[in-house]
Amino acid sequence: MKETYLGVDVSPLTYDQIITSLQERMAEEQQSTIIAVNPEKVITANQNNQVKQLINSSTFQIADGVGILLASKIKGGRITSRVTGVDMMARLLRFAAEEGHPVYFYGAKEEVVTKAISNIKETNPGLIVAGYTDGYEKDEQALVRRIHESGARLLFVALGSPKQELWIQRNMPNLPNVLVFQGVGGSFDVFSGMVKRAPAAFRKAGLEWLYRLGSDPKRIKRQMNLPRFLVRVLLTKGR
Ligand code: UDP
Repeated sequence: MKETYLGVDVSPLTYDQIITSLQERMAEEQQSTIIAVNPEKVITANQNNQVKQLINSSTFQIADGVGILLASKIKGGRITSRVTGVDMMARLLRFAAEEGHPVYFYGAKEEVVTKAISNIKETNPGLIVAGYTDGYEKDEQALVRRIHESGARLLFVALGSPKQELWIQRNMPNLPNVLVFQGVGGSFDVFSGMVKRAPAAFRKAGLEWLYRLGSDPKRIKRQMNLPRFLVRVLLTKGR
């Protein structure tokens, strides 16, 4: 059962439960999409109905962001730990390597995506990389054809939000052999080592946002969405 905050669905499943469900869906040749939900996206969704539809029509909306956890606590929900986009991607890569599913990487700058792939291959030696394309490719049709012909079963799209989700929604019907789509935002930057994640102590304390604010003060504008989101959740009856 999903939880809904300000009209946006969030899945309470853990990493393992999502992988198990994906395995079953792949066996039935069903396509699945994974989208990370955080307070910023919930606020955007409330201003843009297309974004809301996009999130709610995804297969798995993961609780990426401490704000969603707090909202679940306030409303007596079942979400007790974060399922982050970058960790979900790491789990999916391990799964793909173990099961022999080819993976395609689309997004970020050329040097970022190539470095990310070489690091990922080191961690997952058995991984089949079907191909990659940087996130500044203009010819969408040619790109979709290339992904289709690559034989990829999983596709990670790193264009930022909601661009990547819109891309996935638009192109999914033309990629019938790709069964798992994840919009991963800045995750290629993290795998490339060019962007550092917050130290474990910050992550455990639910203060990753504070670390990111410290390293990039411009984020304050985006981060104001966290208190806005919590106030609105508090003022909403039910969920
Ligand atoms: N990006 C891209 N093509 C674009 C715009 C952005 O490939 O047209 C990439 C950019 O290089 C970066 C990622 O998308 O790697 C955006 O990361 P960001 O942290 O902004 O995404 P978020 O996780 O905040 O949605």
